[in-house]
Amino acid sequence: MTQTLINPTPKDYKSEVKPTWCPGCGDFGVLNAVYRGMAGLKLAPDQTVVVSGIGCSSRFPHFLKTFGFHSVHGRALPVAQGLKMARPDLTVLAVGGDGDYFSIGAGHLLHAALRNIDITVVVMDNEIYGLTKGQTSPTSPQGHVTKSTPYGLLASQFNPISTVLSLNVSFVARGYSARPKELAALVEQGIQHKGFSFIHVLSPCPTFYHTFDAWDAAVTPISEEHDRSDRGKAMLLAMETEKQYTGIFYEEKERPTMDQAAHQLVQQSKEFDIAAYMQRYA
Ligand code: SF4
Ligand code: MG
Repeated sequence: MTQTLINPTPKDYKSEVKPTWCPGCGDFGVLNAVYRGMAGLKLAPDQTVVVSGIGCSSRFPHFLKTFGFHSVHGRALPVAQGLKMARPDLTVLAVGGDGDYFSIGAGHLLHAALRNIDITVVVMDNEIYGLTKGQTSPTSPQGHVTKSTPYGLLASQFNPISTVLSLNVSFVARGYSARPKELAALVEQGIQHKGFSFIHVLSPCPTFYHTFDAWDAAVTPISEEHDRSDRGKAMLLAMETEKQYTGIFYEEKERPTMDQAAHQLVQQSKEFDIAAYMQRYA
């Protein structure tokens, strides 16, 4: 039976497990934003599933009272997509970090983006591998010096927002962990959006790469005047390097989702005339 909450508060989504992140980790702000977003939408905890991969941020499902699946490195998206295809009635979130989604799991991100399955993705990007103690990730800036790149990172920096915009993702947004109220609103809108929602979150790792000061200065809310249906303009905002725009870059409301389309196919297949097919093609 569905566990309906009448007037839920963020506390109603907290599990008994206390987060084990370092003091000051940006992921605390993201967790608070997700609690708030879930309370805002009055989600039933037993109809909600949070799936993660591996990494500091992927401990996330343990701290929520919803169902959860702490999966394998880079594989949150296959699990989340399969779940939504099988149980379209559930609210499904896939969470994790920049290493998980933009390195080992990058191939899954590309294909999930093209499918437009109705799940919400929240990527906590700290531009570093935190769990393995500070190696560069795909979003580390070029030249960044770490123990894995003592002479500076040679590769270019991966741009998550421009990448998913080019893959036709139907909801693209960015938030900042230090602004959990704004981030909670994005989480709510991402979950309400029917289709693949991608929320990129700047979530600093003060232990291995302290970016709070830089992001406090760079974070700039997207203007109210921005036309969310204009992907070209969204791409220009995404390509900005001095500023880190936050808010909704792009939103396309009326695109069919693959989970809906597949369930329609199942219905149609019940009326499929196999004898006529065999006569025509055998
Ligand atoms: Fe957070 Fe970094 Fe500590 Fe991991 S290592 S919990 S990302 S502060
Ligand atoms: Mg990381």
